[in-house]
Amino acid sequence: MPSDCLFCRIAAKEIPATIAYEDADVVAFHDVAPQAPVHVLLVPRRHVARVSDLQAADAPMISRLVMTANQLARTLGVAEAGYRLVMNCNAQAGQSVYHVHLHLLGGRPMRWPPG
Ligand code: AMP
Repeated sequence: MPSDCLFCRIAAKEIPATIAYEDADVVAFHDVAPQAPVHVLLVPRRHVARVSDLQAADAPMISRLVMTANQLARTLGVAEAGYRLVMNCNAQAGQSVYHVHLHLLGGRPMRWPPG
């Protein structure tokens, strides 16, 4: 685990966050600067810096993130109305934390394209 990675440190409980779900492989916590009434970040415990670094062997881990997000959307009451799952890769897409994470956003209407 890189000692300077914010999301590794949140997953290890070295930095506080409001945890929405966790298991042996995945941690989900509420975004500190929410962009919607529901804004949860889902991260693998294993450090991978960016989506473009993923290997074929990481497919089950990404699947787990999506399936967990679907379950959380139901738990948090946004599944019926709709929700958005986003992964930003590198600076121009807006990635600011270099540990793979899936944004779960819901609870308000959202425009497309996002801009
Ligand atoms: P991204 O811009 O896609 O890399 O997303 C990083 C997200 O992490 C942003 O939405 C930030 O608001 C969020 N964030 C940064 N620091 C924290 C923190 N300490 N706890 C929870 N969320 C955070």
